[in-house]
Amino acid sequence: MTSRIAIIGAGIGGLSASIRLAAKGHTVDLYEKNAEVGGKLWRYENAGYSFSYGPSTLTMPWLFHDLLDVAECPSSLLPYQRLRLHHRNHFADGSVLDAVPDREQMQDNLATLSAADARAWPLYLAETKRMYELSQSHFFNNSFSSIRHYLHRGLPSALARVHPLLPMQSFHARYFQDKRVRMSLDRYATYVGSSPAQTPATIALIAHIEFGTGVYYLPGGSATLLDALLHAAVKVGVNVHTNSPVDRVLQRHRSLTGIRVRGENVPYDAVVIGFDALTAETLFDRPLPALPVQAVSHSGLVALLGVRREYPDLPHHSVFFPQTYEAEFQALFRDQKVPENPTIYICNPAASDATLSHHGRTSLFVLINAPSSSDNSEWATDDMKERILQLLERRCHLSDLRQNLDLCQWVTPVDLARRTGAYRGSIYGPSSNGTRRALMRTPMVSRHCRGVFYVGGSTHPGGGTPMVAIGAKLAAEVVHAYSERRH
Ligand SMILES: Cc1cc2nc3c(=O)[nH]c(=O)nc-3n(C[C@H](O)[C@H](O)[C@H](O)COP(=O)(O)OP(=O)(O)OC[C@H]3O[C@@H](n4cnc5c(N)ncnc54)[C@H](O)[C@@H]3O)c2cc1C
Repeated sequence: MTSRIAIIGAGIGGLSASIRLAAKGHTVDLYEKNAEVGGKLWRYENAGYSFSYGPSTLTMPWLFHDLLDVAECPSSLLPYQRLRLHHRNHFADGSVLDAVPDREQMQDNLATLSAADARAWPLYLAETKRMYELSQSHFFNNSFSSIRHYLHRGLPSALARVHPLLPMQSFHARYFQDKRVRMSLDRYATYVGSSPAQTPATIALIAHIEFGTGVYYLPGGSATLLDALLHAAVKVGVNVHTNSPVDRVLQRHRSLTGIRVRGENVPYDAVVIGFDALTAETLFDRPLPALPVQAVSHSGLVALLGVRREYPDLPHHSVFFPQTYEAEFQALFRDQKVPENPTIYICNPAASDATLSHHGRTSLFVLINAPSSSDNSEWATDDMKERILQLLERRCHLSDLRQNLDLCQWVTPVDLARRTGAYRGSIYGPSSNGTRRALMRTPMVSRHCRGVFYVGGSTHPGGGTPMVAIGAKLAAEVVHAYSERRH
């Protein structure tokens, strides 16, 4: 038997879940409040420049090829290309570390900073691979949607072996002596919007995802992913309703009856909430939770820059670290400010993607970690923006940037919150600062209302495009099983 299912929010999670549920024969309505689908990933084109806002480091492409398979679409819709240079790390003393997948070349690169760290590299890779494999079999493929899933034999011992109580920073210090090497790896904590001093070492399994399975890009930019997912959704019969903000989830005796959208009550058998689970409280007429700053992942201050010149030496991904990394996380999670001397990430996709290269013009995506915040008017000021442009010229070697700037579009945490419903503009909803927060994210099955489910970066297993795709697969299975039980 099939059900009528509403999915609220057409981010990567909502889109992916809708494809899987429609492919199982359910009637699926996907509601998106914006004019376009994509959520935290969107295409921005202006004055002849083209950008993909949001995810730029793409990993685990097979998860999205699997989705295309489900919809019987060709995998050529997602022509992922593997990067031979993941990113170039620049340190305050002028030294550089190229992160590359080739193990021997990476060891050679590490040896220019520390011979001991180069020797430790294979041991680190083996350990992060082990953590990935344990997480894959015990956490990523477990929806934790019933008590049975928590009682699974092997779960406690798997948990014990992924270093949940050890901070990432201390884990990296066990392997590497050079502060710069540690800094470059501690940055994985920011992939979950958190601090390396508080995020469990488990999250370092990202090293295996990157170095073991690859970092990719999509020709045309990351937004190519949206075109493919939308195509697949339409093909399997998902009814996509854009410009359709949902105001309420309707319930009776703690059971779902439907939703209110555009002033109309529409009955549904199941609802999947595909945006930030913290903000989604308002759908139930409950106030937004008042969480301490530590509990919320950080946000970003983004500049989309259209520059009338080329930077031939700038690779696809570059990271410019400050002298001390600790100050960054104190600023984000204690002082709620943009760091005085921030880490700067620059994405220059045309460096690898000829389809994006416009002779004499460069489209750059610049990201600086910023605190999650409902009011950034105090610090996201014109002075701050000017200071960042100066830093890009001085620290990041983007010479003559300001005098060649055709376009400079800023996206602040408040903009991100407005556009996507992200709680205080945080990139991943709840932070992973601390073991419990990292491993016990918002469950997929609502505890308050039967028939309501969650998908997306703020829920299990977490944020980032691959985790969101994994979560969508699990959520679709859970919703499908619920539908079977109901009939
Ligand atoms: C600056 C930045 C950089 C990032 N970099 C990377 C990266 O390099 N690699 C990576 O893998 N990931 C990265 N991410 C994370 C990744 O983009 C997200 O984890 C992922 O896209 C989140 O998808 P989601 O399904 O949770 O939904 P979201 O993207 O949060 O989308 C939710 C959707 O719901 C809609 N919505 C909200 N409220 C309603 C309502 N009431 N009714 C209808 N619709 C509603 C919103 O408009 C939105 O479209 C980055 C994110 C950002 C912001």
